[in-house]
Amino acid sequence: MSPGHNGCLCGLDPSVPYEGPHAAIATLGGSPTWGLGDRFHEIAAAEGHARIGVHRPRTPYGLGPQVEHYRTPRGRAFLRIPTYGQVVGEDPLLRASEWKTFWILWQAGVRILLVGGTSGSCDWRRGVKEEDAVRPGDFVLPRSYLPRDTMPTGLPGTELEFCLPRQVAIMDDPFCPALAEEIREETRRLPGARFRRVHGPGAGVVLNRWLAGNGFESLATCRELELYGRLTGMPVITGDCVSPVLARVCGMHLGYYHVVANWGTGLEPEDPTVTLDRLYLETLPRVAAALELALLDRLDEPASCRCRALLRPRPPEYARALSPPP
Ligand SMILES: [Zn+2]
Repeated sequence: MSPGHNGCLCGLDPSVPYEGPHAAIATLGGSPTWGLGDRFHEIAAAEGHARIGVHRPRTPYGLGPQVEHYRTPRGRAFLRIPTYGQVVGEDPLLRASEWKTFWILWQAGVRILLVGGTSGSCDWRRGVKEEDAVRPGDFVLPRSYLPRDTMPTGLPGTELEFCLPRQVAIMDDPFCPALAEEIREETRRLPGARFRRVHGPGAGVVLNRWLAGNGFESLATCRELELYGRLTGMPVITGDCVSPVLARVCGMHLGYYHVVANWGTGLEPEDPTVTLDRLYLETLPRVAAALELALLDRLDEPASCRCRALLRPRPPEYARALSPPP
């Protein structure tokens, strides 16, 4: 690896200008469209969306992920960064993947960010007659999240590096409820899609948020989450999602949808990889792509939610209570 070329290993260069495309809305794809490989643009073209550019912007943290620039049938622009901004062969944490991705989205003027995820349900209600349970085959719009790791919450080298003294992100409604309603509406219009059930934010589902790693949750983690759900009445799903705090700090509405692919590892005697490969490659990607494309063509910035109001300014005394910058 060559220092100064790829990632955060080589330090920070705040002077890097943003040279990529601009748009008010973007998708990070994610595991629901994973099975398309690099063919999302073909599905998009079949639906009347034109990919008008493919970019690889530099960021203060090194070379960024691929940024695809599209024009929708209604003439609107959107950006797509594949699979949460991850790059083949690069450890996302080590290479500051989330910083790079959010710096690009922030610089590009993105206000609405769509993210999809899949993975396991740790719902304690696994009997066949437990109709309300969150089961494989369900579509979920979570109410809240549990962080499984220390999430990035700012953009180093920018005014958002550590803004807590100036403004605090209240994490009620981490996933924009207005966007959740729009996504739920869109699932009803999808041709040929049959989700067993759509759980809206009112169902109180919690996402055990994680983004990068080489393994699934352990049986012990899944049992812990199962017990948490039983105790609180809020069922837990595990899965990939970018940092909701970082999205809020960057002034974005985060629209997150989740397709439950399997039970949490070890909770049922199935091998989740078999289910997942079939789901990712055969069932889900075209449906998820169609869902995202329809939303990207018509969503406007929500006015009825609190996403931006929940980034609260603080009294100037708070910032003055810290040591001044050198
Ligand atoms: Zn919102």
